[in-house]
Amino acid sequence: MTVTWLRPDSAEYEAARRPAMPRYGEVRPAAIAQCSSADDVAEVLAEARRTGQPVVPRSGGHCFVGRSSTAGIVLDVSPMSSVEVKDGMACVGAGVRLPVLYDALDAEGLTIPAGCGPTVGIAGLVLGGGIGLLGRLHGLTSDKLAAAELVLADGRVVRCDATENADLFWAIRGSGGGQFGVATRFWFTGVPAPVAHRLHLIWPRDHALAVVEAWQRWAPYAPDEVSAVVKVTPEGVHVFGLVVDDLDQVDRFVVAVGSEPASTSIARMPYRELKRSVVGLGDVEHAEPQLDISKSAFFADSVPAGTWQDVLRSLGDAVLNLTAMGGEYNRRDLDWSAFAHREQAFLLELVAGTPLPAGEAALQAAETELRSTLAGLFAPLAPFSSGRAYVNFPDPTLDDPLKAYHGANLDQLRKVKQTYDPEGFFTFPQSLTPAAS
Ligand SMILES: Cc1cc2nc3c(=O)[nH]c(=O)nc-3n(C[C@H](O)[C@H](O)[C@H](O)COP(=O)(O)OP(=O)(O)OC[C@H]3O[C@@H](n4cnc5c(N)ncnc54)[C@H](O)[C@@H]3O)c2cc1C
Repeated sequence: MTVTWLRPDSAEYEAARRPAMPRYGEVRPAAIAQCSSADDVAEVLAEARRTGQPVVPRSGGHCFVGRSSTAGIVLDVSPMSSVEVKDGMACVGAGVRLPVLYDALDAEGLTIPAGCGPTVGIAGLVLGGGIGLLGRLHGLTSDKLAAAELVLADGRVVRCDATENADLFWAIRGSGGGQFGVATRFWFTGVPAPVAHRLHLIWPRDHALAVVEAWQRWAPYAPDEVSAVVKVTPEGVHVFGLVVDDLDQVDRFVVAVGSEPASTSIARMPYRELKRSVVGLGDVEHAEPQLDISKSAFFADSVPAGTWQDVLRSLGDAVLNLTAMGGEYNRRDLDWSAFAHREQAFLLELVAGTPLPAGEAALQAAETELRSTLAGLFAPLAPFSSGRAYVNFPDPTLDDPLKAYHGANLDQLRKVKQTYDPEGFFTFPQSLTPAAS
């Protein structure tokens, strides 16, 4: 057995305990168990059972609401960090961060549709779905998952794919991390890494309404080869992403906006380079570390111009992000996998921030205030939202979170939970409960 146990008196504990999200930097686990294999994971789960301590898996540590942090045991899968690419398929350890996977695939002329965060873990991303620049062309990250290995609550190591434990395979593709067991390995089918145009257009902030209006009528319905994100910040309006071939698409969008961008940058480049170069585009620079809190929702249709106007006027220092769905995302049936959002036009995210306060009480107070700001900003948009939420952008304020995350797939997910985790050993706020409970 090779579990490395880091306890508060270990030299490495302080660095290892902090997740990527600063909001949870004050959480002090009783132990961090660094696991290198499925057997290690089984040992840690047995120890958690024996001692009655809560245990949560952590891959990249990016959960917005701190679900990979606990005062109990953090089961850290980051030592499982190998990637092997063979015959178009990647075998990926559950602790791999996205850039490592992209680099390994790129060496074979391949990639997968996945997110942009440079330190995001593959496990959290794929288990919740995985939205990214190639998604309109190739679907979710989880749509390219061919198989996975998990350790269940009772320590059994199971593989699941389209034929073996197919119900579990269905359930882990889009229902969110930490629901059924601890994933240790994933197998992905690679897609060709394209050469494409990287796009970055910037308009002055007072053009936000025209840009958002034109974008919502274009980006979700454009050909699959177009992936354009909008980011409205206090300083400007950014539209960035990729177009594989047809740049006339961009010209038509600019005509629809009704004014030329203040800055236009379009360059053709290999996909890996493109992916690297969009990280952080449009981000607002802050002199001090920030506490950012977000609220997001899916929309199946356009939002009226008057509503956008109200929201854009009240944004203040908050940021609005819009990500187009449609294309390959929406070509699967609603129950093809656990990801229940196949009829959506776009995903909206509002982000409000403040300088990072010190201490848990101050963090909580700041979070409460930011959530109240976000609720006010979101209120006019709510009637137009489909009421669906992305489980990888979790929101503790949702009225009916399980319906919002899982839609019509909820009942089947609870049956699968009953089969593989009947005691509800893996639990967290808004987690699935077994069907019999
Ligand atoms: C900077 C940033 C950029 C992002 N960009 C994108 C994007 O482009 N597209 C997108 O779709 N999302 C994006 N996200 C959201 C991201 O998909 C989620 O935050 C995701 O859950 C992060 O996964 P993680 O492994 O890093 O996080 P973690 O906090 O480690 O895990 C997230 C959840 O999964 C569980 N989990 C972790 N490891 C395992 C495991 N091995 N087995 C079972 N459960 C596990 C955790 O317990 C937790 O509940 C972004 C987030 C951030 C902070």
